[in-house]
Amino acid sequence: MISKTTISKFRDLETPFYYYDLSVLNSTLKTLKKESGNSGFKIHYALKANANPRILKIILSQGFGADCVSWNEIAAAIKAGFDPSKIVFAGVGKSDIEIKNAIKAGIFCFNCESIPEIEVIEQLASKQKKTVQIALRINPLVDAHTHKYITTGIEESKFGIHTWELDNVLRALSTMKHIELIGIHFHIGSQITKMSVFQSLCAHINELQDWFTNRSVDIKVVNVGGGLGIDYENPDKAPMFTEYFNLLHDFIDLKHGQELHLEPGRSIIGQCGSLISKVLYIKNGCNTMFAIIDAGMTDLIRPALYQAHHKIENLTSKGSIYRYDVVGPICESSDTFAKFIELPETHRGDFIAIRSAGAYGEAMASRYNLRDLPGSVFSDEM
Ligand code: PLP
Repeated sequence: MISKTTISKFRDLETPFYYYDLSVLNSTLKTLKKESGNSGFKIHYALKANANPRILKIILSQGFGADCVSWNEIAAAIKAGFDPSKIVFAGVGKSDIEIKNAIKAGIFCFNCESIPEIEVIEQLASKQKKTVQIALRINPLVDAHTHKYITTGIEESKFGIHTWELDNVLRALSTMKHIELIGIHFHIGSQITKMSVFQSLCAHINELQDWFTNRSVDIKVVNVGGGLGIDYENPDKAPMFTEYFNLLHDFIDLKHGQELHLEPGRSIIGQCGSLISKVLYIKNGCNTMFAIIDAGMTDLIRPALYQAHHKIENLTSKGSIYRYDVVGPICESSDTFAKFIELPETHRGDFIAIRSAGAYGEAMASRYNLRDLPGSVFSDEM
């Protein structure tokens, strides 16, 4: 909940901006630290969800590592203070220069997605006379039952290595002198809310563990990626860390000495952020009323990109309830945050909060239409 005092302070600020409630972030981190600590799991925060430097510093203060998908993310993580030995580098299309930089920086592990990629890493590691640790991102063919753009573990996905390619991967690795296979990595999709999906993932992981054991391949790290969803309908609800960690603990058969790693993004940062915007105009359509706000898809692209739902609140009206289409100013019809939703009677100048926007919000902002990027404001600065 955004308090009345905070709302009154919004009036002095230029909209739109992201508002980060640090009490929510800190309490999420506290639970995550406790639950992961209890289970002995290692957390690598997925920077792609939000790489705001202040947020990185706060997450780092919990002693977590970082999951990065570009050299620039690795550089941002190192700049924030993350130890390279706790950084993993994922992504289906790592460029040569990114690989070279990451090898030089001495990161913990490359999560690899194809044989050609592993071959390039071998060549570049050999030039630097270094041995590089890798994990294989395996596509376990588990349907995440989430939006098709954020489902990654199915057969047609561009991500991951298919299980039937693993023999070829091991054969290729046996000829490489600068690569050490340390782990297996999975990420089946994002915004997963059904625990049964993770349970299926665990069953596949156990089968794969046996496959490697039968070939005498020592796997030190099992990395289950990210994907734990949040409740977009209830922005004040915390993520289900306890259920999730209990499930991983109960259903993955870790071998002696093996480490379980995770790469949560959305579940850490999603609920602490809101996009704050002001209503520019109320416009009558044929069948609807448009509340045109000063935030657009350039500030928060999730609804336009994934038909994502965010709870929208009018922070400054208590009038009778009407229905509105809440839309942005961008020259695209998809620049719509919600259709036909109930809001108290809304006027020009009202403050609108688009909740649960901490993850994949600011991080995905663009300058389309040459708009300014949204600012960020933290609760302790107000
Ligand atoms: N790890 C990998 C490999 C990913 O691709 C993603 C998201 O796309 C994440 C972790 C973070 O996922 P989430 O934000 O759903 O926790």
